[in-house]
Amino acid sequence: MAEFDLIEIIRARCSVARADVLLGIGDDAAILAPPPGHDLLVSTDTLVAGVHFPPLTTARDLGWKSLAVNLSDLAAMGATPAWALLALTLPEADRTFVDGFAEGFAALAAQHRVALVGGDTTSGPLSVTVVVHGFVPTGRALRRDGAQPGDHVYVTGTLGDAAAGLRCLDRHDPATVALFNAPLDTRESLLERLHRPTPRVAAGAALRDVASACIDVSDGLLADLGHVAVRSGVGIEVDALELPASSALLALFDASERLALQASGGDDYELAFTMSPARAADLLRDLARIGCGATRIGRVVAGAGVRLLDAAGAEIVLDRRGWEHFA
Ligand code: ADP
Ligand code: MG
Repeated sequence: MAEFDLIEIIRARCSVARADVLLGIGDDAAILAPPPGHDLLVSTDTLVAGVHFPPLTTARDLGWKSLAVNLSDLAAMGATPAWALLALTLPEADRTFVDGFAEGFAALAAQHRVALVGGDTTSGPLSVTVVVHGFVPTGRALRRDGAQPGDHVYVTGTLGDAAAGLRCLDRHDPATVALFNAPLDTRESLLERLHRPTPRVAAGAALRDVASACIDVSDGLLADLGHVAVRSGVGIEVDALELPASSALLALFDASERLALQASGGDDYELAFTMSPARAADLLRDLARIGCGATRIGRVVAGAGVRLLDAAGAEIVLDRRGWEHFA
């Protein structure tokens, strides 16, 4: 297979039509028409084999996840996604792989009406870079820097499932025997969270004008809330007992393992946000309407840093707070 045959497979599969794409795949650059009265938000994320996904990840899951992690960044800013670019580096021109990849990518792109408008296809060690573009009404993007002392801290969905899913794949994990003896659907639900995360796009839009700060949880809750604390110039207290857990996580891990997964496991792609307590009731109702629960997990305080607290208010110190490259 030649480079242009691969590009044609991708183009044919990812065919979301949008009026704001004046010229898509096929020229030296795409021509796009951002809507008036909106800010354009742009973000990119790379997935490298062995670093961001385990070797056994299927092409289909990789296609889905490479777009999902990028849409999650737009969701965290309250943006509505519109366009994507895909830079694909492949060890060989494998038609089956590209077919599967494009299928997974296209399935999520169709859900959010994201048009693939260009990219690059090269040979080398497997790596995927996606660029996404989205819009918010002018001046209304959610940011990390607006948290105020007195705000409450919330998170959507449940935490720790993807990190638990990763452990289900690790043959050397001491918990492996228990994990392998777990009911198949319990394991499957964790692996689904790892391989096919749901970007919280509708929730992000609902948070506009309500949340004071927002971030998506990709590296681990405490690490990511740390970015909010720094950018906002505040401290954050997180109540360990309030962290939301799925029934699969509750079934398979004891309390201390669970806490580590929830507080510092990566790849959740939930939204963590802060808001004034006065806004909470309306927002939680709006989120429930779009099928996305949110749980109050802590508070913003004067000071600096993120502290994880037990029921008595004493600080719990974990071995690690989140994923970091080069650490
Ligand atoms: P150029 O050499 O001018 O950079 P390419 O030959 O790399 O262009 O690509 C031809 C067209 O195919 C361009 O429109 C480019 O955006 C698109 N394209 C290349 N690879 C991909 C890909 N993996 N996904 C989507 N579009 C792609
Ligand atoms: Mg060119």
